[in-house]
Amino acid sequence: MKEESGQEEKWICDKCKEKLELHKVKVSYLGGNFEVELLKCPKCNNVFISEDLALGKMLEVEKGLEDK
Ligand SMILES: [Zn+2]
Repeated sequence: MKEESGQEEKWICDKCKEKLELHKVKVSYLGGNFEVELLKCPKCNNVFISEDLALGKMLEVEKGLEDK
């Protein structure tokens, strides 16, 4: 059983039609460090932000920015 469908969403780069790879990226924000997994295109190095992240962490980050 090597089916991976369902568990992994299919993220494809619009530009090069390459399958995106998950990369852990360290992010520094307001003196704090946290690690996030971002989808990156191996060809053009475009980084895609998943919906979860956009709606969760990134929103928090933006909120922090505005509050300051
Ligand atoms: Zn690409």
